[in-house]
Amino acid sequence: MPQYPNLYATINDSQLLSEEFARREDEKDALSKLRAEFVIPTKGDLRNKRYGPKDKLLENGEGTSREDDDEESIYLCGNSLGLQPRRTREYVNRYLDTWASKGVFGHFKTLEGGHPPWLDLDDALKQQTARIVGALPSEVVVMETLTANLHLLMSSFYKPTPDRYKIIIEGKAFPSDHYAAQSQLEHYNIPSSALITIAPPSPDDPYLTTEHILSVISQHHASTALVLLPGIQFYSGQYLDIELITRHCHGLGITVGWDLAHAVGNVPLKLHDWNVDFAAWCNYKYMNGGPGVIGGLFVHDTHGKVEKPKVNGDVQHDNDTQLVYRPRLSGWWGSDKSSRFRMENKFVPIPGASGFQLSNPSALDMTSVLASLDVFSLTSMDALRARSLRLTAYLEERLLRYDNKPPPYKIITPANPAERGAQLSILLSPGLLDPVLEYIEDRGVVVDERKPNVLRVAPAPLYNSFWDIHRFITIFQAAVRKAVASQSTTVTPNGAART
Ligand SMILES: *Cc1c(COP(=O)(O)O)cnc(C)c1O
Repeated sequence: MPQYPNLYATINDSQLLSEEFARREDEKDALSKLRAEFVIPTKGDLRNKRYGPKDKLLENGEGTSREDDDEESIYLCGNSLGLQPRRTREYVNRYLDTWASKGVFGHFKTLEGGHPPWLDLDDALKQQTARIVGALPSEVVVMETLTANLHLLMSSFYKPTPDRYKIIIEGKAFPSDHYAAQSQLEHYNIPSSALITIAPPSPDDPYLTTEHILSVISQHHASTALVLLPGIQFYSGQYLDIELITRHCHGLGITVGWDLAHAVGNVPLKLHDWNVDFAAWCNYKYMNGGPGVIGGLFVHDTHGKVEKPKVNGDVQHDNDTQLVYRPRLSGWWGSDKSSRFRMENKFVPIPGASGFQLSNPSALDMTSVLASLDVFSLTSMDALRARSLRLTAYLEERLLRYDNKPPPYKIITPANPAERGAQLSILLSPGLLDPVLEYIEDRGVVVDERKPNVLRVAPAPLYNSFWDIHRFITIFQAAVRKAVASQSTTVTPNGAART
């Protein structure tokens, strides 16, 4: 096994475990200032049973009151729902004011001090989205939601034939991806045995080696139509080698699509250069667009062309001839903007990803995504990644140091920083998850649990700090010690105390 020396491994306990060390790491990093772009809920906010900030409730004589109520919570759950950028409220208010004051004109009129007209918002979002996923602006579009987009993309890219019809996914695929692939097979009356799953070697070790992934693809290549994989696996946090796997598939004549739910806004991507056929993602995890907000998709340049037909090599300019483009399920928003409102029933796809749009997209959603993208524009994915590597290395090193003894948990995310993003998944010894969760949640820690034994902890580089991680570790390890201690005194059914 190759070793991956941790940046913080050589620092002694008396330094590394101190709060001061975390504070200094934050001060050294220029990107730490981006935390101020976000609303960080306080512990009191989280504890209150009614919605809204705690201050408002106390004014009304409601709500609890505990000593640490005003302390910022330790929110390490951006892999599930990113925090709210401060500017989101301002942008959304501007949207509401535009709608209130202009009605339908909000669609077309450029307004002083306003956002682009709603009709052009999708174009405004493309530029910034393209930078985040490493694409040409024409290759991306903000539309629909992730699972819907996977289906739309499969309707165009999954074309089963009697020879090639299998879909390869991974064995621990996010259920929605599994259902999407399975129902595509059902849609074509193909037996479910055509769904090939790449299984991890053991339930306790979800790591998929690249060799294993490639070998399963090779084994089924002659009958496979599509490979659909996650850029970053949601459970283990493993970052797959998108470029290499894509090249391998293409060498075997297989189309490959990527679900980037956990990769977008987390690691720098180069979808264009890696020749990815298609990809889709949501904008509510590391992208901070808001719960269930409109998603995004990528269609490589080579698949987005809209051309006049050629006869014997000559381009036909006759207006009545059918344009040549990749077939897809279509709607009016994918049709040429200049003729969209003529209602002529002639679909003229916009070249590139925008031609895959169906509906008039929610301007409210796009406004929220715009706020989030404007925060990303304050930095670059490369700079964020550099910060993220340090944050996650620090989290890892702190987790590994547990009272000078082996901890009753292990990290199941790859140790190689190149094979993971921000998230570390922690597998706890049996029976610890519930008491640990209860203890840390009571103290304002927000992480994500996967029953029976896994906690996912994701320091988001835009807003999480070394101080957050220090506070997390302090509370988490206290919780683990307490849970272990109470486990060892649990009375077994036959009355004997277990030790
Ligand atoms: C979050 C996530 C989804 C969610 O899909 P929606 O359609 O947005 O509800 C799907 N797949 C993966 C891999 C995810 O991580």
